[in-house]
Amino acid sequence: MKTAKEFLKTIFFIEILRGLALTLSRLFTHAVTRRYPKVKRPAQPGFRGLHALVRDRDTGKEKCVGCCLCAAYCPSQCIYIYTSEDEDHKKIVDRYEIEVLRCIFCGFCVEACPFGAISLTEHYEYSDYSRDAFYMTKERLLSNWDKYMAGQKGEGYFRKFWRPMSEDFGTPEKQATWRKIQNAK
Ligand code: SF4
Ligand code: SF4
Repeated sequence: MKTAKEFLKTIFFIEILRGLALTLSRLFTHAVTRRYPKVKRPAQPGFRGLHALVRDRDTGKEKCVGCCLCAAYCPSQCIYIYTSEDEDHKKIVDRYEIEVLRCIFCGFCVEACPFGAISLTEHYEYSDYSRDAFYMTKERLLSNWDKYMAGQKGEGYFRKFWRPMSEDFGTPEKQATWRKIQNAK
């Protein structure tokens, strides 16, 4: 059963009047919506957009060594890596592919990579009529790096948001390593 206060509120439409007052008070304030795509909000630091394979500054090739850690971590299982060996038994990354439409942009691949070889760029405006456009080959991923992350931007990206990296894990001074044992003989 309604109390007297609730009854009065009902018959005088108090809640409706409150709502209308709120609407009226907002009529003369600045709009908080943006006229996208004319007005764009800059991507926040660490934004997880389209993938890119990091290009090594010295060699101009991908930094990826084909260890497959990123693929093992990926919860969507949408990273495919195909490798082979050269004459010196060095691993070559023949194909590195990501099915972007299956990605959930969790960033685990970036975190898992011990070489800082894969990144998520700030680019989020991509659309197409075919699924093929979202199947990123190694070449496409490298070109994403050139387009969206080359230079200072790419360097800052890993230093700022993705630590620890392999360089943070130096070999302790007293730890025996194969090379040291060899030299000692
Ligand atoms: S962001 Fe997550 S889901 Fe997407 S490719 Fe990387 S690990 Fe897989
Ligand atoms: S991107 Fe990194 S984790 Fe993935 S295969 Fe290449 S080196 Fe390994």
